[in-house]
Amino acid sequence: MTDYREPQSIMPVASDSAAVPRSIPLPLRLAQVAACLAVAYCALDAARHTTVAVPPQGPMLFAAGDAAPAALSQLADLGALAGPPLASIEVIVQRQDTLERIFRRLQLSLADLADIRALDGMRALIDRLNPGEQLRFLHRDGSLLGLERHLSLTQKLEVRRTDTGFQATVVPRPIETQGTVAHGVIESSLFEAANAAGLADPTVLELARIFASDVDFVLGLRQGDEFSVYYQRISQNGEYVKDGEILAARFVNQGHVFEAVRYVGPDGVAGYYSPDGRSMQKAFLRAPLEFRRVSSGFSRARLHPILDRIRAHRGVDYAAPIGTPVLAAGAGRLRFRGWKGGYGNVIEIDHGGGIETVYGHLSRFAAARAGAHVERGQTIGFVGMTGLATGPHLHYEFHVNGQYVDPQRVKLADARPIDPSLFADFELKTAPLLAALAPSAAAQVAVR
Ligand SMILES: [Zn+2]
Repeated sequence: MTDYREPQSIMPVASDSAAVPRSIPLPLRLAQVAACLAVAYCALDAARHTTVAVPPQGPMLFAAGDAAPAALSQLADLGALAGPPLASIEVIVQRQDTLERIFRRLQLSLADLADIRALDGMRALIDRLNPGEQLRFLHRDGSLLGLERHLSLTQKLEVRRTDTGFQATVVPRPIETQGTVAHGVIESSLFEAANAAGLADPTVLELARIFASDVDFVLGLRQGDEFSVYYQRISQNGEYVKDGEILAARFVNQGHVFEAVRYVGPDGVAGYYSPDGRSMQKAFLRAPLEFRRVSSGFSRARLHPILDRIRAHRGVDYAAPIGTPVLAAGAGRLRFRGWKGGYGNVIEIDHGGGIETVYGHLSRFAAARAGAHVERGQTIGFVGMTGLATGPHLHYEFHVNGQYVDPQRVKLADARPIDPSLFADFELKTAPLLAALAPSAAAQVAVR
């Protein structure tokens, strides 16, 4: 059974549970006050309720004895009791709503609300509501018996009236995760191919983040580049909710194959590593731009080449909308920030080891000032067209010992490998994840 929602009205809904009467008389005072609410009113479906949640060992936040199972059985019992029927109201939280306002609208007892809020630790869980979220109120003839709120994807707060007052329990909301492989070939853009392969946008961004040191996702993609992603799909009650973590991924860029696998160390910290145990997060980003903001840059850059008149042009030009965040390609010291002839507003970063990067034509600078230390990926400025530029773009240079090198091709130093003492554990845990990618590898070979 899905929740019945009828905005701007409140109406009885027949229950499919034999334990609850088919026709629910509507408490008159609730009907009067709820006309302005987006409210769904339905009979409590005890059967559904028992299947939804509450495994026997719900973690207890509040001193309430054997509460989780008790709360449940108590609820089922309530439905079967004689007297006015138990009913539930689902309320969609409106802008500026507080529990007090909702209680007033529903003409529920503010004394009950005060009692609930007085429970230990409760205020942190209910005092801030999010517009659009759904709360469930259980009542009998307008008298509050319970309140439920989804605290997160995996946790639900249940408040119940008992003989000794209200008690609250945080119960788990079970989710199912399923490993899934997506494979795509890029025709015009990464997003297009990835969405067609079933990946949600946050997963596409994560994919680009994982390979950000290996692949220039702004200028470096080519038609025919391929990816395979082994990732989790999260569902709840059989319905897809969102993508979970990427567990392993392969990216084929201009014929180069890159692979990454997720590994959670004994310290609980997760990271992505190449199959031989080197961190995917190398010292530099290939493209010092926020990829999300130039996701169509693949085609844009091809369609609208930028005329950049910096003398003896020796940089990479990234066409991007004005205001696109420009990121420090690697950690270092911001050596210069200001105006320099054809570069316009420019930033120079000294990364040590003879490596220096330059970012020209900026519209404006971010907070970091000259002399400051910046982190890899930190926003240092914003794309513009200051200086000698005919269109908005970032002019980017990569210098090694004073010599310009192609930042798209420069070989970056290997990042810190996984600790040797962990390598056996790493191989054990990541082998099945990499194996999950294998079918699509076979498919790639077949296609080529
Ligand atoms: Zn340039």
